[in-house]
Amino acid sequence: MNQDLHQAEKLTLSEKRLMQRHSRSAMAIMAMHTLLCVVYFQLGYMHIALPEALVLVSLIWISLLAYQLLMATGVTLNLREPSLSLPLILYFTGVFMVSGYYVDEFRLSVVTLFFAALLMVSFRLSGKVMIAVAFLASAAYALMLWVALMDRWVQLSLSVELLQWLVFAMISVSFAVTGGGVNRLRNALAEKNRELANAVEKVREMAIRDDLTGLFNRRHLLEILERQRALSDGKGVPFAVCYVDLDHFKKINDRHGHDWGDRVLRQFSELALSGMRDGDYFGRLGGEEFLLVLPQSDAHGALLVAERLRQRWREQRFDAQGGPATVSLSVGVADYRDGESVDELLNRADQGLYKAKSGGRDQSQVA
Ligand code: GH3
Ligand code: MG
Ligand code: MG
Repeated sequence: MNQDLHQAEKLTLSEKRLMQRHSRSAMAIMAMHTLLCVVYFQLGYMHIALPEALVLVSLIWISLLAYQLLMATGVTLNLREPSLSLPLILYFTGVFMVSGYYVDEFRLSVVTLFFAALLMVSFRLSGKVMIAVAFLASAAYALMLWVALMDRWVQLSLSVELLQWLVFAMISVSFAVTGGGVNRLRNALAEKNRELANAVEKVREMAIRDDLTGLFNRRHLLEILERQRALSDGKGVPFAVCYVDLDHFKKINDRHGHDWGDRVLRQFSELALSGMRDGDYFGRLGGEEFLLVLPQSDAHGALLVAERLRQRWREQRFDAQGGPATVSLSVGVADYRDGESVDELLNRADQGLYKAKSGGRDQSQVA
């Protein structure tokens, strides 16, 4: 659960980073475009008066800064496309066409940065949407050209203008097709990544789980013990273990069959898991032997836990399942002592278990 939350947080973080990168790219493209327009204006190619131009530039930058703000605050994070790529590219199209309208001599060069913007959103938009955007932009260019022709008919060469429009439309569509390919590739890669992450997770699960019961296996229990040992040595957090062994299991197995024995092992796993405190660990060491790891417990507390488990298991009846009336268990308890190894700790728990077995089984003993 905790891990899921962590995962979600990480995803959101990387999404936010992507959004910020997106908005930085948008700023960079618009800055280059503004610079280009300023140069053309200085050179006298912009057929616009200075006050009008200033109003336009201010409007453009205010809206872009608003976009920047949206991206920085993350308010769009819950939307399907948090970077707002479609509105953004439509906005860019509008800006480029308005700028293109005012420059007659170098119309195509003024709208060229549209292709950079198209490339930018190709990481976010599907192939179909990209093509639609390319057609829409070509139509917008045609409209802009028509308005410019109406206004300044005599100064313009229709064939050159149409040729430029054709170039714009062709490059737009090519970019859209290529960009759509990039997007498909990106989606396929993301899908592969997800599959890989799932496979890794599955392998990890397999590496730490016991096949029969689904409990932690011996290897993982030993890792947990090493971790607890480090915590105890470093921060003084105590912990204790209960070494659980089902009594006379060989006899039971021989009498009622191995499958029946397996069922009992699974039933015991479920019972033990269902009564566990959060933060405790339970796993199968092998055969009919299990281990409970109890952080924050001393031997006395662990003995109480062991006795409760023993009593609960004692109440399970098996005669209806064709077995003995009850199956008992014995437990050896040990608390971790400063500086000892995991092996030493387990050995002491095993000594407790030996004591319980030789004392008549069906009991818990501290080493
Ligand atoms: P004790 O009371 O002294 O613990 O006697 P025991 O018979 O339980 O102990 P022993 O170690 O002699 O035998 C353990 C038995 O557990 C041997 C085997 O038949 C059984 N066993 C081990 N692993 C499995 C398993 O995966 N499934 C089943 N059904 N039985 C298993
Ligand atoms: Mg045993
Ligand atoms: Mg046994």
